[in-house]
Amino acid sequence: MALRFFNTYSREIEEFEPRDPAARPIKMYTCGPTVYSRAHIGNFRAYIFEDLLQRHLELRGYKVHRVMNITDVDDKTIRGAREAKVPLAKFTEQFKQAFFEDAKTLRIKAADEFPSATDQRYIERMIEMISTLISNGLAYQADDKSVYFRINKFPNYGKLAHFDLTQLQSTGRVKHDEYDKEHIGDFALWKAWDEEDGDVKWDSPWGPGRPGWHIECSAMSTALLGDQIDIHCGGVDNIFPHHEAEIAQSEGVMGKKFVRYWLHCAHLLVDGQKMAKSLANFYTVPDVLSKSYTGRELRYALLRVHYRVPLNFTWEGMNEARESLTRIEDWLVRLREVAKQENGQRSTSYAERPTEKADFENALDDDLNISAALGFLFESIRETNRAMDEGKLDAASAQAWLDWWKRSDSVLDLEAEAEIVVPPEVAHLSEERENARREKNWKRSDDLRDQIFALGWEVRDTKEGPKLARHASCG
Ligand code: AMP
Ligand code: ZN
Repeated sequence: MALRFFNTYSREIEEFEPRDPAARPIKMYTCGPTVYSRAHIGNFRAYIFEDLLQRHLELRGYKVHRVMNITDVDDKTIRGAREAKVPLAKFTEQFKQAFFEDAKTLRIKAADEFPSATDQRYIERMIEMISTLISNGLAYQADDKSVYFRINKFPNYGKLAHFDLTQLQSTGRVKHDEYDKEHIGDFALWKAWDEEDGDVKWDSPWGPGRPGWHIECSAMSTALLGDQIDIHCGGVDNIFPHHEAEIAQSEGVMGKKFVRYWLHCAHLLVDGQKMAKSLANFYTVPDVLSKSYTGRELRYALLRVHYRVPLNFTWEGMNEARESLTRIEDWLVRLREVAKQENGQRSTSYAERPTEKADFENALDDDLNISAALGFLFESIRETNRAMDEGKLDAASAQAWLDWWKRSDSVLDLEAEAEIVVPPEVAHLSEERENARREKNWKRSDDLRDQIFALGWEVRDTKEGPKLARHASCG
């Protein structure tokens, strides 16, 4: 079945066709964190949805090149650095590190690139793009020295947000409270320096200043992914004005359709309201871990609902996540047991192997319908458990389900870290080996190493002493 996604641009479910079937990999751009504070779990709902998307594309055989930007200069980061009385770079660094740490806890695959807006290379690219927009008549410098995008000159402006601009239309110059813009909807590409910015400024043909938030993403995406992207994602709050502005800027410079598929994730809510810094109703990843939940449980809680459906965050939801993961773990333990038995349970009517059941992947093909995919997983758990209760699942079927799980889990990434249980025989040989080494009996130590190896284990001598691990050929 072909992959289908809901494209915010058309507001329709569309069959996924990459730019050029021969031009691999898929180019994917995902708006990353603004590092003025630790990201909250609402932000991570968006990043987990993007992770699911990337992993499913990969399961379907696509190679994905993903870029996630880090917004490390904007009004909020500048204000934060000023209040903390530290340089901007020092202020943002702590939140960049916290972001990477939390993403790892939630098992989010790292993007191929994490460009930072303040990197000189991208600042230059922003200045270059703004200059092109000015020469194309799409931007102008206003009396306040800032440079603005002229939305009236870009006929497609408003198409992504399905926003009717006529109400904002104006013919003459509109005097706005803060700015001297031609049109109230014109947005800043380059913000002229003012005292509040302190030492945060770059030279430009328009005087000292700093980039607007929207141009940052256009510059980083076109610099790293070229003139057209297959998929661009973010939360729904990014649609307008951020992504609308990105389209105007990128297409205004490149003269080509910027993004083929726009995918946006609905919000994580608390008591029916968007989880947001400004509403002070947020939790961070460490907040959740401090209540003794694991990153894996939080990943499940944020993953389990279709990305276009708002998800209410509750502690009951966290407990349900824990229960669901325990059901999966118990099931895997049982399957492993049955798979090991040589003359294991005989298969009867439940010989149906998962290989014939593609429902999980088909559900994800259908606009990442994770709820249906998980529904299929738990129904399979119920059925196979029943078959095992009745002694009706043979070893080969159990193994087939384990293989099926392995493939499905390459998308979900929910399996518990395997606990390393060293068999007593191997532990005993390892102790013997230590004694031999203490006695400098190298021959015996080597023999013991070989015996340990023959049992499927490997001894690695580390600074903290010998460590046992399954050797590679044992999988
Ligand atoms: P920001 O750091 O505010 O630029 O946001 C980073 C990403 O998180 C963006 O894609 C936002 O759309 C997304 N986001 C922010 N709040 C939420 C929320 N409550 N639920 C889901 N996504 C969110
Ligand atoms: Zn962005």
